[in-house]
Amino acid sequence: MAVPSVRTPEEAAARVAYLSSDVVISVQPAQAIDSEFSKALHSLGASKTPGIIACTEGSIPEVLTVRHNADPLLSVFAPIRSGKLVSVTSSSSILLPSVPHLYKLAQYPVVIHVSLHPLDYPDFSEISAIRQTGFTFLQSQSIREAQDIALTAHALAIKSGKGVIHFFSIRSSFSDGPTTTEDRGVVRSVLDLHAARRFQAVKTGGSTLHADDGRIATITEDEVSYANGGSGSISGISSPQYEISNGHPRATTAGNSSVGSSRPTSSAGDGPPFSSATSVISSVARPVASEDIYRFVSEIWEQLRGATNRVYHAFEYIGPPDAEEALFVFGAETRLFEEAIHQASSGDLYAKAGIITARLYRPWLGVKLIDTVPKSVKLIAVLEQIRRRTTKWGPTLLDLLTALKSGPSQSGAPLVVGYQLGFITPATSSQALSKVFQNLKSKSPLQNLEVGHAYRSVVLEPGYKLGQPTVETAYMKILHQVFGEHLHIANALGANNAGINASISSSPEFGFGSLLARMERRKLFIEKVKEAVKAGVFVTEAPRDCLSRWALAAGDAKKANDIAPNVIAQLTADSSPLSTRLLSSQPLFFKESPWLIGSDAWAYDLGNSGVHHVLASGENINMLIIDSQPYSERAVADAERRKKDIGLYAMNFGNAYVASTAVYSSYTQVLQAMIEADQFDGPSIVLAYLPYNKENDSALTILQETKKAVDLGYWPLYRWNPLGENKGEPNFSLDSERIKKELQEFLRRDNQLTQLAKKHPEFSANLSEDYGSEIRSLQKRKAKDAYNKLIEGLFGAPLTILFASDNGNAESLAKRLASRGKARGLKTLAMAMDDYPLEDLSNEENLAFITSTAGQGEFPQNGRALWDAVKNSTDLDISSVNYAVFGLGDRHYWPRKEDKVYYNKPAKDLDARLEILGGKRLTDTGLGDDQDPDGYQTGYQEWEPKLWKALCVDNVEGLPEEPAPRTNEDIKLASNYLRGTIKEGLEDQSTGAISADDQQLTKFHGTYMQDDRDLRDERKAQGLEPKYIFMIRCRLPGGVATPSQWLQMDDISNEHGNETMKLTTRQTFQFHGIIKGKLRPAMRAINKALMTTIAACGDVNRNVMCSSLPEKSRYHRDVYAISQRISDHLLPSTTAYHEIWIKDEDEKRTQVAGDAVQDYEPLYGQTYLPRKFKITIAIPPHNDTDVYAHDIGLIAIKGSDGQLEGFNVLAGGGMGVTHNNKKTYPRTGSMLGYFAADKVHLACEKVMLVQRDYGDRKNRKHARLKYTMDDMGVDIFKSKVEALLGEKFAEPKPFHFESNIDTFGWQKDEYGLNHFTFFIENGRIEDTPTFPMKTGLREIAKVHKGEFRLTGNQHLILNNVSDADLPNMKDLLAKYKLDNVQFSGLRLSSSACVAFPTCGLAMAESERYLPELITKLEGVLEESGLRHDSIVMRMTGCPNGCARPWLAEVAFVGKAYGAYNMYLGGGYHGQRLNKLYRSSIKEEEILEIMKPLLKRYAIERGEAERFGDFCIRIGMIKPTTEGKTFHDDVAEEESDEE
Ligand code: SF4
Repeated sequence: MAVPSVRTPEEAAARVAYLSSDVVISVQPAQAIDSEFSKALHSLGASKTPGIIACTEGSIPEVLTVRHNADPLLSVFAPIRSGKLVSVTSSSSILLPSVPHLYKLAQYPVVIHVSLHPLDYPDFSEISAIRQTGFTFLQSQSIREAQDIALTAHALAIKSGKGVIHFFSIRSSFSDGPTTTEDRGVVRSVLDLHAARRFQAVKTGGSTLHADDGRIATITEDEVSYANGGSGSISGISSPQYEISNGHPRATTAGNSSVGSSRPTSSAGDGPPFSSATSVISSVARPVASEDIYRFVSEIWEQLRGATNRVYHAFEYIGPPDAEEALFVFGAETRLFEEAIHQASSGDLYAKAGIITARLYRPWLGVKLIDTVPKSVKLIAVLEQIRRRTTKWGPTLLDLLTALKSGPSQSGAPLVVGYQLGFITPATSSQALSKVFQNLKSKSPLQNLEVGHAYRSVVLEPGYKLGQPTVETAYMKILHQVFGEHLHIANALGANNAGINASISSSPEFGFGSLLARMERRKLFIEKVKEAVKAGVFVTEAPRDCLSRWALAAGDAKKANDIAPNVIAQLTADSSPLSTRLLSSQPLFFKESPWLIGSDAWAYDLGNSGVHHVLASGENINMLIIDSQPYSERAVADAERRKKDIGLYAMNFGNAYVASTAVYSSYTQVLQAMIEADQFDGPSIVLAYLPYNKENDSALTILQETKKAVDLGYWPLYRWNPLGENKGEPNFSLDSERIKKELQEFLRRDNQLTQLAKKHPEFSANLSEDYGSEIRSLQKRKAKDAYNKLIEGLFGAPLTILFASDNGNAESLAKRLASRGKARGLKTLAMAMDDYPLEDLSNEENLAFITSTAGQGEFPQNGRALWDAVKNSTDLDISSVNYAVFGLGDRHYWPRKEDKVYYNKPAKDLDARLEILGGKRLTDTGLGDDQDPDGYQTGYQEWEPKLWKALCVDNVEGLPEEPAPRTNEDIKLASNYLRGTIKEGLEDQSTGAISADDQQLTKFHGTYMQDDRDLRDERKAQGLEPKYIFMIRCRLPGGVATPSQWLQMDDISNEHGNETMKLTTRQTFQFHGIIKGKLRPAMRAINKALMTTIAACGDVNRNVMCSSLPEKSRYHRDVYAISQRISDHLLPSTTAYHEIWIKDEDEKRTQVAGDAVQDYEPLYGQTYLPRKFKITIAIPPHNDTDVYAHDIGLIAIKGSDGQLEGFNVLAGGGMGVTHNNKKTYPRTGSMLGYFAADKVHLACEKVMLVQRDYGDRKNRKHARLKYTMDDMGVDIFKSKVEALLGEKFAEPKPFHFESNIDTFGWQKDEYGLNHFTFFIENGRIEDTPTFPMKTGLREIAKVHKGEFRLTGNQHLILNNVSDADLPNMKDLLAKYKLDNVQFSGLRLSSSACVAFPTCGLAMAESERYLPELITKLEGVLEESGLRHDSIVMRMTGCPNGCARPWLAEVAFVGKAYGAYNMYLGGGYHGQRLNKLYRSSIKEEEILEIMKPLLKRYAIERGEAERFGDFCIRIGMIKPTTEGKTFHDDVAEEESDEE
């Protein structure tokens, strides 16, 4: 016996809807707020419960969620016209605005389940108002009834071909206990599956909704004419059929055979034959009539009764059979009245009353009502719960009157009295009944008496308030920024439109009308002004002239708005009656930017939408249409079925400006489009993409969705100006890279495509790769076939080696295994798992898998798809395949016991699965472990011989010697001073990438190849290569840039990069997202700005840093000069840089360095340094450049005269670490001693040279200076440096550091100049709708006369502002909100590296996540009084440590996506390393640790005690005394157990 579990009528109805539909449209208050229906729908979907009605057995119905105010019924048309049975679950709030759709939908077998709202006091007028739409209406009043009537509704819709609305109020079922779930067998038996199939088999056309599409649900009657030619014909209704094609009722003639071929329409012909052996049958279709509905519903209820014993009628009567009075209730309170009557004492007026309700509300079958009401009833009280009454008599009262008065016994018909039913509670029900019956039984009863509380404040359920989803306000903010006070949004939410209800005034249609009226008013006003100029009487002459200028310019926003204030001033001064009259329309002097806001709902019905009205009007109106449908395979596949392309529609219209934009892809393009739209004299449509599933989706999710959609051409960015060509400009500008087919076709027709391809050569390549093709599988096939060809002709057994690799180790092992196999005579091929076609797997003879371990025991990205297929396949048979597996993992990677399962999990899982699928194991799975003496090689060396043995090729003689693996040193050596094949690679247009060797070499030129990791999976699925992009890092000693350089950098980021700049932790500019084709122009532009990128990365001395020190300008100038000198002194000399990047096209002139000289590297030699090399200078008491963290750290020392005298020299600092490799560790620099300023560049050189000669060139993980020093010992190292220098370091001079963070806000220096330190969160310079910081800084750079300094904490200083310029500068800062430095101390002291999506090494988010984490901690800071306390917190996406996490008081270092190692105990001013506190913890645990710790710190800290020191004092963490002890005494010991 099933346990009763269905608790609400919504749940009951939703469950039946799910089983009985192909598509359920779940209307929700908001995407993020479930309705009572949608909870049930989602849970059925999540458990993959199959539907009953679907054509394919076992398929799962589609549940689409739509916001209640996004015109939800529009979404019904497309699926239902394509033969899907659609149902809708919704509150009643959507019904009235959907009336136009309802008339159409009534002719389709759609079922709408409606829960009446507001829940506590439902309004039945929402039902009565739509009763004439042609729908059938069924009402239920309990949970069980909701289940049965929902099923009735679906069965009836299928049988009749007409729409059914099933409505109920949950108030009627408040006292119900839970009910058992529906019986699938009963559902199946009641639904007419044959009829359903007939509907599903046919697609109907129809492109428009409002215009009559001619569809009428019809029923087919068969006329039988006797074959003997008798003239008599009988007519009978065949089993129900409805006409499927569009069209008015028409007769269809079935074939003319006489027997067994009587199915008259395009049905599948599987119903029972209607025939007579001697007859010819023709069929006549006619509209479905009320009687048909009644007959069908009765049949359905009969079936239900047979299956469940429950009985239903068109009208229900409860009460004594001889009752003299009855209530007819059309409201939610029937059950209360029933109970009240039940409990009535005999003296009560209503003790013997009956209650009538309508189960079948429409069609209204008066005859059935008469049959239901006992003949004894003389008085009927009609109670209607209708709040919005538009007629004097309630609709139900009229229904009853008509039925009873036209019935057979009109004379004896009962007296009917109408009541307005208010809010009733159990406590007031008997009182209400008494009132009803007193009136009813009185001599002359009053009509329309109110019972119950008429008004009750109605609380809207959450989410049902009309509102713009917060995520969508991004575009509104930009509109406000661009047009300011001249912006007029005609259908703005919350606007004051007297007397007009909010949902109407916010509709674009209303807005459009009001805009037309507004424009007309202004036109008239301009005429008035012109008349005034000609013949008006003014007191003074001044206004006339001014007004005439204004009248001429009135149509031009800029001019008119410039002149307007003066006009107003003149008129005010004039004060003539005419002036006063004109001034009464003062706002009309300004030309506003008129906008309408719409949604993509229009895309379902463009021909009748607001878009169409605006286009057809030709008026100068701008529309912003927000499309929020996220990119997904389904959206792409269904794009045509569901939505039309608004942009294409508008472009085809011919007279409109059209732009397709996405704020999370290009902010600049949105701005440009809005401005162009405003300037275009005619209709403008700006399509704005903002994909979200739920209104509370994070910005990061929306960003990632947007990127995918834009990158793959689902949402191309473009601008279309039909008048462009008149001005000699192209009509079409493409602002993203890929476009979809439909757009291509349009452009081809319009001859724009050739122009486009000429302008963007890279674009032609993208054209052939648009989404939706089957390239991926073709590629796999091709790759495999190519390999097969390659090994044809070879002898020996085949061995296919498939690898899954994320850092290249598994791949190189696989390739080596392949070449070794080949040497042993095997036919080997090696390829990535995901490049291998699954269907070939069972035909293999020998398979070897090599996989490393990613994330939390997952397969690396290039093995996931094949693994999923193998894991989930039910029919893969590999019983004839031999296999072997080798895995690469790290036993210590997940230190906690419960996480041990992740160690080499992919390899173990794969082995087990292959065994289950019948494969024969060649040898035991090999497990490579990073903790073994030789890392994974240890395990591998045991495994490989076993494999050869199993393949019987272990004893092969004369194996060739293997070449040693190629190292970075080889690459440098062979590169001819860093040339490699970079130049050729840049010219190769067949790929966005460059060769692996060149990827190493370009680093020396200041650029890294990366790929956009947000797009990796999606591009892979589409068969595209990764989205290769480049990062460019500038070389900017001391981080000082001029305003003009700032502007040039800003331009470069817009023109060549991703519109953002990163100010790095090493005080320079970094650009991201540069595609290969733009790399050279970007480099040239940087050099044009008199900056360079050479040696910004690579195994050379990189950018030299210097404290930014705003308060001491003279001192800064001197120290900064040293940083420049060191930088110049240590620059590589190769001319390759200029050759590759800078030379002009004619290859003769170079722009920067003059003529090339013979290459020679006096300092570096051909192999440069073993590893990167970093130098920094700090000026005490500021350690804002983290002097201990670099290969060389110079601490500036003042002489007795207060001038720079020399430096204490630290050496051997460094941050990079590999997780769980204790041989790697961070290290703070060791003090070598003091050196004079004028020669300190030589000291730096010699330190570098010792490292050049003694650094470990064999193992890059051990190649930094820090290891050289520890291996050699500081003293020996120092002596070698001194030997090269020819002099000794002096004793270090005293110094004192106070902090390593920046001082924000305004400061004055010794010259009286002003400096402002901006807070630039994590160094990212970008515009967002809420904070247009990049634009602001650009505007500042345009007028700034001083300089900009980038700080080592990724912030920015505006330097040298004179007192005279100060007010203006302050205004600018305020205008762009750049003066805000009121952040928590924690935020101000935080920094994060770039990590996702561009850094290839990132294991977890950093820059995009740290701000969120801080927000989550700020509540506690506030509560604990720590808001203003500086706590240094840093985050990086991997242990490479770019944001110098090991020196922070608290740090988080990415371990896997969403998981971080946590470190505590760093020194406040960067003097002490921190230590591991917890491994691999996620946000929840981070907060669990941090919140109480912060509270504790607030309470227990000592005087001026810093957070890092506090953590040590209270014993949470041990101090790290030097790099070598970093891994000792960690708080969380790693366990060795497996
Ligand atoms: S720390 Fe790691 S993830 Fe962050 S930017 Fe540096 S290399 Fe990338």
